[in-house]
This record gives sequence, structure tokens and C-alpha cells, in this order.
Amino acid sequence: MYVRKKYRKLLSLADKQFNIPNSFHRFIEKQKLAHNLVIKSKSNHCWCTCCKTNFVAQTKANSMIKCPNCKQQLLVKTDRLQEYSFKDNLQVYFKM
Ligand SMILES: [Zn+2]
Repeated sequence: MYVRKKYRKLLSLADKQFNIPNSFHRFIEKQKLAHNLVIKSKSNHCWCTCCKTNFVAQTKANSMIKCPNCKQQLLVKTDRLQEYSFKDNLQVYFKM
């Protein structure tokens, strides 16, 4: 299974240093900041992963949209992506 480069780096770091709680916690926080998205499903229903708000907007996948609630400019992804990134994260948790 494919593991992203930054995950591989983190995992090898964790093996060497055994300070998983701190670095893993920072890693999660960083991931949360960097990975805020608008998840778009059918009928233009959008979900902001930043403020956890639903809204309806005409938008295309991979375009930028401003969330009406938190006013963040976020990348739009279709709901199929969620499954992929979830698997990716699960793989990291199992390795940890
Ligand atoms: Zn938002």
C-alpha cells in the first residue's frame, strides 16, 4: 500500500526516537491545519472540514471556495476523496 513520503519520514523518526506522543500530536495538529477542505457531495452540498458546517454552493472539484461560516478559502474535493485519505490515515495509525 502506498504511504506518503512525509508519513514515511515521520515513521522512521518515531522508530529512532520513541517520543511518539509529542511528535505525533504535533503531526496531527499540522495535518488538521494543512488538510482543511470543502467536501462536496451530490446536489452541491458542501461540508467544511475546518468549522464542520454544511452549506450549499455551486462549485467544482479542485477549485477554491470561501466557506460562508468560517470565511476560509478552501480546496473543494468530492466525497470520494474522504475514503482515500481515511485509509491513508488508518495505515499510519496502525503503524504507530
Ligand atoms: Zn468553514
